[in-house]
Order: sequence, then structure tokens, then C-alpha cells
Amino acid sequence: MKLAHQTAIITGSSSGIGRAIAVAFGREGANVVVNYNSSRAKAMEVVQQIKAEGGDAIAVKANVGKEADVLKMFQKAVEAFGQVDILVANSGIQDDAPFLKMTIDQWNNVITTNLTGQFLCAREAAKHFVAQAEGTTTPRAIGKIICMSSVHDMIPWAGHINYAASKGGVLMFMKSIAQELAPLRIRVNAISPGAIQTPINKSVWSSEENRQALMKLIPYRRIGQPEDVAKAAVWLASDDSDYVTGETLYVDGGMMLYPEFSDNG
Ligand code: NAD
Repeated sequence: MKLAHQTAIITGSSSGIGRAIAVAFGREGANVVVNYNSSRAKAMEVVQQIKAEGGDAIAVKANVGKEADVLKMFQKAVEAFGQVDILVANSGIQDDAPFLKMTIDQWNNVITTNLTGQFLCAREAAKHFVAQAEGTTTPRAIGKIICMSSVHDMIPWAGHINYAASKGGVLMFMKSIAQELAPLRIRVNAISPGAIQTPINKSVWSSEENRQALMKLIPYRRIGQPEDVAKAAVWLASDDSDYVTGETLYVDGGMMLYPEFSDNG
């Protein structure tokens, strides 16, 4: 039980990667706050699964792009479990369009959820960590933040410039707050998944033709599963990674290895 007696807020955890992280954290003994934006029923399924496996969890509705919602989510976590020790800022959306046709609404929606949402959640988490730790001494981190980024924090992505800009922003956001918060003994890291089979990218794995095309981008020759990312998140949230901060862990089956150059380019 690597996360026993700790409380974790996982944003956007009613589906996909967030859901797998919520379940994995529950198995490691954490109290889990399953944040959702729209589907309470799906969030409650995750809560029930965690409880059925002997863990504890609550579902909390919050739009991560709205400051008042984020503040309320942290309040509810504290009311239920006493404190907050881990934040996984996982919520994210895509709203794709060619650059010349992208509307300001498409740009703003993605930046607000994917980047501003991380700012609002991480700032609130850090405030809670500092207030909770006052007067206590522990050689370990007083709190941990994991930012869900993407291989597109490094790989340019035509047709998805709002998404790539948001994840590129997450990279420097993560590193800058890691630098600022390390002296307070708060660890901040990111996970950058490659292609993981979730609802966000159904179009790329639901047809055989698209799946074959995708395999050309993945040297390891399989699509990732949400559990692949959840295992990395458990490690980054636990004391096993206590000396790791400001790092991005790419969980991508080698997508960042320029596979198109594997046969002499
Ligand atoms: P998903 O669509 O299953 O999960 C996204 C979650 O974010 C959903 O639960 C959704 O309800 C939630 N969300 C959306 N807007 C929100 C808001 N305003 N407030 C709160 N929650 C909100 O897809 P996923 O693949 O599990 O994505 C999770 C994260 O992983 C995202 O940040 C995504 O960018 C990142 N990611 C995914 C992949 C992949 O291949 N699936 C690759 C790289 C990065």
C-alpha cells in the first residue's frame, strides 16, 4: 500500500486515464476524490469500484476551468477526508480544426481546460499542502502534483494547435512550479502519454486501417492502455520517487524516438 493514509484528487477521473489512476490509487490505499465535469453516473461507477475493492472514494463535480468550482472541490475533499496530499491534474479535451479555420472559442476552450485548469488545481493543491504542513516536520514531500501532459508537449501537431500549445504550456508550467515549490518540499512532475486507448482518441483506434497507421508511430507496436499510465502515476505519487521533481515521464511505447528514422530516414 504505497499511498496509505493519503488523499488524492484526480481531475477528470470518470473515464479513460483518470479513471485507471483513481482505481490504482484506491488499490494503493489512497482516499480518492473522483472529479467529473458532466457524468455523475460514470463517476459513481468509479467510486463503487474503488469501494468494492476495499478503498474509499467520493465523486465531486467541478469544471477545472472555473476557479469557484476548483476551490469547492478542494473544500469537499477536506470535508470528506481531512486533507489533500496528491493532485493529479488529468482533465483534458481536444477540439480540433485546421489552423486557418480554428475559432477563438475552440482555442479558448482547450486552453482553459488543459492549461488554466492545471494552474487553478495546482495552485489550490499547493496552498493546501503548505497550510497542512505548518508546524509539522517530515523528511518526505508534504504534497505531490502530477500534471497530465502529452507527447505533444514536444511533438508538433498540425490540425491540433490549441491542444499542442496547451500541452507545451503544461511542460513549462510544471517545470517552473517544480522549481518554485521544491524548497517547500512539494514535488511536481508530469506524465506525457503517447497513444492510449481512451474515449479522447477513439477515431485512431476504432478502425483497423487507422490502427495500422498508428502502429507506424509506435516502435513498441501496441497501443497503450490507461493502466500503463496509472502505474507510472502510482510511482510518481509515492515515496519511491521522493527525489524526483520537475521531470516528465514519457509513457509512449517509444513514440518520442522518431520511428520514421528507424529505417535510415
Ligand atoms: P478522456 O476523454 O477519457 O478523459 C478526459 C477527462 O477530462 C474526462 O473524464 C472529461 O470528463 C474530463 N474533463 C473534460 N473537461 C473537463 C473540465 N472542464 N473539468 C473537469 N473535467 C473535465 O481522455 P483521456 O485520454 O483519459 O485523457 C486524460 C488526459 O490524458 C488528458 O489531459 C489528455 O490530454 C491526456 N492524454 C491522453 C492521451 C491518449 O492517447 N488518450 C495521450 C496524451 C495525453
